[in-house]
Amino acid sequence: MTKARTDTDLIIAGGGLAGATLALAVARLVPELRVTVVESFPLSPDALPEDYQPSYDARSTALAWGSRVIFEQLGLWSVLSEHATPIRRIHVSDRGRFGATRLQAQDHGQDALGYVADNRWMGLCLMRALMAAEVNWQAPAEVMDMVPTTAGVSVRVRQNGEERSLTGQCLVVADGGRSGLREKLGFVTRTEDYGQNALIANVSTSEVHQFTAFERFTDSGPMALLPHGSPAQAENLSALVWTLEDDALANLLALSDDEKCQQLQERFGWRLGRFTRIGECHHYPLKLTTVDEAVRPGVALVGNAAHALHPVAGQGFNLALRGLMTLVEQFRRAVDEGKSIGELSVLGEYQRLHRQDWQHTVQFSDSLIRVFGQSLAPIAFARDTGLVGLDLLPGAKRWFARKAMGTGGRKPVIASVKPGKELAPDDQ
Ligand SMILES: Cc1cc2nc3c(=O)[nH]c(=O)nc-3n(C[C@H](O)[C@H](O)[C@H](O)COP(=O)(O)OP(=O)(O)OC[C@H]3O[C@@H](n4cnc5c(N)ncnc54)[C@H](O)[C@@H]3O)c2cc1C
Repeated sequence: MTKARTDTDLIIAGGGLAGATLALAVARLVPELRVTVVESFPLSPDALPEDYQPSYDARSTALAWGSRVIFEQLGLWSVLSEHATPIRRIHVSDRGRFGATRLQAQDHGQDALGYVADNRWMGLCLMRALMAAEVNWQAPAEVMDMVPTTAGVSVRVRQNGEERSLTGQCLVVADGGRSGLREKLGFVTRTEDYGQNALIANVSTSEVHQFTAFERFTDSGPMALLPHGSPAQAENLSALVWTLEDDALANLLALSDDEKCQQLQERFGWRLGRFTRIGECHHYPLKLTTVDEAVRPGVALVGNAAHALHPVAGQGFNLALRGLMTLVEQFRRAVDEGKSIGELSVLGEYQRLHRQDWQHTVQFSDSLIRVFGQSLAPIAFARDTGLVGLDLLPGAKRWFARKAMGTGGRKPVIASVKPGKELAPDDQ
């Protein structure tokens, strides 16, 4: 069957972490496909800064070990790892209670359980790779709407005040957690408002972090402190994610930096010594948003547009990456079988294979908030004993470690590179 001619093959709406990674994965693993990314933010691969200077205030993402393996498959890890701080230990505890559990990378035969990378650095690495792969990047431009056609989809794009249509076999919606397109296209979402906010800031401490990530559950909500800074030498810098209810957030934001450090000290304790500095604070309302169905003929949702999680367990982007690789695996198969990548059978298989991972990860993050965000005595007792049990039972601890390392979910068959090896772009 001759396929009808389209302007491009794959249209990606949104060039954030998910959309840009998908574009790179398709360019590397299904190079027969023409990819067009439409991004509303005016960032373009051909206007990249020459140098990267780590900034004290940059926001960062905890990448699980499994995500490192995916970036190796995309030929990006060797450059990304130049500024990715390894997490060698994870310490989970409950403020004022006896339960605690510790995970060590060496117990799992790896040199790290995961890594912390600045979002800005990840964006820069992705953009440079996309530019080298000659992916068509349209920005600032916005996908307004989409209609199905016999060849796939026709997308309405607004750029420089003008509207035009762009045709392709498939539209992937990667426009984030508040996805306007998802609503416009009529996907049904479920949103759970946690009534909490995540406060993000970089903090300095008198003690070095020793490459340890701390997950701490306090009466005002869970907090995470992730090791940050140099990949080679432990520093005094950590990335803070602190969950706070609306009033507590407003009160905290009204304080001076010294007072914020004191509050933090009181909640976190002294495992990293004294908090000496807190950087620029960003905050986000916390919601769990998921969809029942992530595909339609010609359309698939990925990343936060498909599932936006509470950030305390650091799972959102890691889950997104596994989903992207599952989608690319289906694109590879469709091309090999001479099918359109927008066929429902192709996209439906992505949804079927990714669904279990996404449901388990949503449950895992959600239950951390529900169990550990409670100060009721029976629940607090249960979580104390749970943490102790987690520490004592090797099976339970292995399960928890697999979740943290992002190695528990299904591995797309396209993902065939052994950890520690990287596929050079030319080998693919
Ligand atoms: C506070 C916080 C901390 C987090 N920490 C972690 C962590 O440690 N580990 C982890 O794995 N995950 C973490 N996450 C989750 C992670 O940040 C997200 O999973 C990830 O950023 C999702 O990327 P995305 O590309 O789907 O969405 P976004 O980053 O929101 O990108 C969407 C893009 O689409 C563009 N866009 C929007 N509408 C249109 C349109 N109509 N047309 C064209 N472009 C459009 C936007 O400009 C944007 O660039 C955290 C999240 C938060 C909020």
